[in-house]
Amino acid sequence: MALPGGSVRGLLSAVLRGCLNAEQSVLRALGLQPMSPALAVQTPSSLPAAAMDTDNGESGPSFLDSIFWMAAPKSRRTIEVNRCRRRNPNKLIKEKDNIDMCPECGHLKLKHVLCGFCYAKVSHETLKIREEIRAKEGGPFNVSTLETVVLYQGDMPRAEDSEKRIIERNRKRPSWFAY
Ligand SMILES: [Zn+2]
Repeated sequence: MALPGGSVRGLLSAVLRGCLNAEQSVLRALGLQPMSPALAVQTPSSLPAAAMDTDNGESGPSFLDSIFWMAAPKSRRTIEVNRCRRRNPNKLIKEKDNIDMCPECGHLKLKHVLCGFCYAKVSHETLKIREEIRAKEGGPFNVSTLETVVLYQGDMPRAEDSEKRIIERNRKRPSWFAY
C-alpha cells in the first residue's frame, strides 16, 4: 500500500509531537524543568573559560587543575611508614653530655656557659647599685670621674678608698661580691 507523501509527513510529525509531550510530562512528574531547544556548539576542551561566562561555580575541568594537582601524592603512606620516618634515631633529640653543676649555687647548667641563676642575681644587684648612683648624682649631668666603691652594711671604708666615690647599700654584702 502506497501512501501519499503528505499523509506520511503528517503521521511522522504527529508521532514526534506525541513523543515530545510524553517526555515533557515525564520530566514534569520528576520535578525537572522541561528542556527547550538550545544551540549546541562543539569547542576544544583545552580552552580556558571565557570572560563572559557567568557561572562561577561548578564548571568543567579547567586547564589550571592539572597544575594544582601535579604535586599530589599518588598513594597513601601507611602509619607504619610514617612512624618509622618520624621516630628515626637521626631525628630524635640527642642526649646531652655537656651539663655541669654551678659551683656557686648548685643549679645545673651547660658547660662553658654562665649560670643563668647567678647571672640574674648579679644583674639584679647591679641594677640596685645603679639606682643608688643615679639617686646620688641626681641626674645625667653630674657624672663623677672618680672610681666607685660599693659599701654594704658593716663595711668600713679603707684608707685607700678615701679618694673614691662611695656608694652605700643597706643590706648585707653578698657572698659572691668581694670587697
Ligand atoms: Zn649558679
